[in-house]
Amino acid sequence: MNVSEIFGQNVFNDAVMRERLPKKVYEAVRRTIDEGAEMTRDTADVVAHAMMEWAVERGATHYTHWFQPLNGITAEKHDAFISSPRADGKMILEFSGKELIKGEPDASSFPTGGLRATFEARGYTVWDSTSPAFLQESANGMTLCIPTAFCSFTGDALDAKTPLLRSMEVINEQSLRILRLFGNTTSKKVTPSVGAEQEYFIVDRKKYNERKDLIYTGRTLFGAMPPKGQEMDDHYFGSIPARVGAFMKKVDEELWKMGVTSKTEHNEAAPAQHELAPIYEPCNIAVDHNQLIMETMKRVASDQGLVCLLHEKPFAGVNGSGKHNNWSLTTDDGINLLNPGKTPHANIQFLLVLSCIIKAVDEHADLMRFSAANVGNEHRLGANEAPPAIVSIFLGQQLTDVVSQMVSSGVATSSIQGEKLKTGSHSLSVFTKDATDRNRTSPFAFTGNKFEFRMVGSSDSVATINTVLNTIVAEAFEEAAEEIENAENKNLAIHNVIKKNLTEHQRIIFNGNGYSQEWVEEAEKRGLLNIRSTVDAIPVLLSDKSRALFKKYRVYTDAEMESRAEIMYETYAKTINIEARTMIDMASKHIIPAVMGYIADVASGMGHVLNVIEDADVSVQKEIVLECSDLLSDTKHFLAKLQAAVAEASAKPEGEEAARAFHDLVVPVMAELRRPVDELEMLVDKEAWPMPSYGDLMFDV
Ligand code: ADP
Ligand code: MG
Repeated sequence: MNVSEIFGQNVFNDAVMRERLPKKVYEAVRRTIDEGAEMTRDTADVVAHAMMEWAVERGATHYTHWFQPLNGITAEKHDAFISSPRADGKMILEFSGKELIKGEPDASSFPTGGLRATFEARGYTVWDSTSPAFLQESANGMTLCIPTAFCSFTGDALDAKTPLLRSMEVINEQSLRILRLFGNTTSKKVTPSVGAEQEYFIVDRKKYNERKDLIYTGRTLFGAMPPKGQEMDDHYFGSIPARVGAFMKKVDEELWKMGVTSKTEHNEAAPAQHELAPIYEPCNIAVDHNQLIMETMKRVASDQGLVCLLHEKPFAGVNGSGKHNNWSLTTDDGINLLNPGKTPHANIQFLLVLSCIIKAVDEHADLMRFSAANVGNEHRLGANEAPPAIVSIFLGQQLTDVVSQMVSSGVATSSIQGEKLKTGSHSLSVFTKDATDRNRTSPFAFTGNKFEFRMVGSSDSVATINTVLNTIVAEAFEEAAEEIENAENKNLAIHNVIKKNLTEHQRIIFNGNGYSQEWVEEAEKRGLLNIRSTVDAIPVLLSDKSRALFKKYRVYTDAEMESRAEIMYETYAKTINIEARTMIDMASKHIIPAVMGYIADVASGMGHVLNVIEDADVSVQKEIVLECSDLLSDTKHFLAKLQAAVAEASAKPEGEEAARAFHDLVVPVMAELRRPVDELEMLVDKEAWPMPSYGDLMFDV
């Protein structure tokens, strides 16, 4: 496989456009992509035709508008490139500019959170020319996928992408104001750069098929811990099992063809857990590519007799999966606003940018927590191996030192420098260490020239967190710019803003162990929020503060915020409902009968022994029978309790009330039912247990 030959071969990228479009049309398209200029219908017709010819040459028969509705996954509706046959019976292929720019899916079947009544089903998909079209190969052939945004008849955003694109315009505008303060007149555009690292688990499909919980909910609802877990720390960066290696190779190949820069693949901390990291790109493309990564991993796994689990917590008690969203701001002429340089204390522009980000995160920590809220992530955040639910910032030694100089005296005069790495061996090369170590326990860590947000769940889109980051930082930039632009002495004003931002928002900086109980207590003293559950994170979007922010920058309207909250409540209630019903099904149809069978076997075995030897010692058998019977009766008891809880929660009105009821009434009983079942798994003969164990799933891929 020659990477440079296959890379991007299925992308209608700049090179292809340059080659296939007339010069004038190509230039017009570039103006649309680079400057947001409107595209004429004639231009669109030419582009569409070229796109179709290119796609058909590569074997495509269909095209689809590819979009991200509010159910968290991507949607597509395939149309063939055919028109009505000519009189002579010949078929002419057709794809017009109109079809490229606009689609009209029957939108009433996607979640809208009340944004559009079903009788007003009209919804539009609109071409996002900044994210290149690509060909996707699947069982139903080769399809031309056109990335689009998805809006209602009234222009309300029905997807994750439209608000993201709006937020990119906002951060662009305000970042340019900051750059101009420092005399930069040449940069024309500032774009958030994003690299989203993706964690996932791989399990064998045959074993997966024997677990109803995995099939229906994507995670295990029962399961005793295997004798060996991750305590030996031998899995992280360990060698990759052959089947998984073959899977990764195919995933890379498929992604490269679609122009996704899959770069790093390694084992993660838990057994059967892995990670894929692409190279960072403009944030809307990174969001699209992350969706493609997830889809491709699922498809390739399935082709190879495997299953890719993207759930945040497929196995209780084992590391969960997240997504690390690396974020920075880059100008069109290649300047990274988050690059501190070697001497950050002297880089005033960087310090202003940093101080604004610190302020933004402190003021809107709740929104950042919100952006990581989903049902699965609730099991992960704060579960000792993922960032806690408390948002804080890690700056590292060097920047923390600069910040404290600024806070105490208004100026910073030095930056701590990295020392030479001493290995104690002359044969190893010597290099200068980074000035700052890493901290893997922080939810928002500065890592050299970018911030890494580690809270997002592995199955979630990174659209929301980037929409939030772009908007909150834009707000802080605007407030700084207003103050400085109007000041007589600009230099002084810049220093004052930096000092003020840092002084007022220092509490959000935390460099210690984010997994520790002390931090939970310390954070509370500092007045930082610790929002544990999804149902408590959802209302954040509807607070006066959030509404004012998003409305001011036209990122979300009131109706759009309300609809998103509504959908999240509904999804929460539905998910827990499905999980609880799956538990009920598994316990009553599989686990209880299996245990009864096992008890009967042991008891009849005991009878046989006694038949042969009248006063044989059968105390062990008796003990097992008694223990199993006790646990069985607990199981039966909590099963009935769970059934009652589900009935009660289901009777609540849809929306917040139902979601809260599922959280408060059903989730705790699910844990109660799980306990005796997991204990039974440790007692009952493995042959009699009705499904593969954690050990079977994690250590035998
Ligand atoms: P790790 O965090 O695992 O040590 P890296 O630091 O190499 O790994 O990169 C993690 C991710 O961050 C990659 O997707 C990488 O492309 C991305 N990244 C690197 N630099 C930037 C940047 N300036 N802005 C945004 N993302 C970046
Ligand atoms: Mg990382």
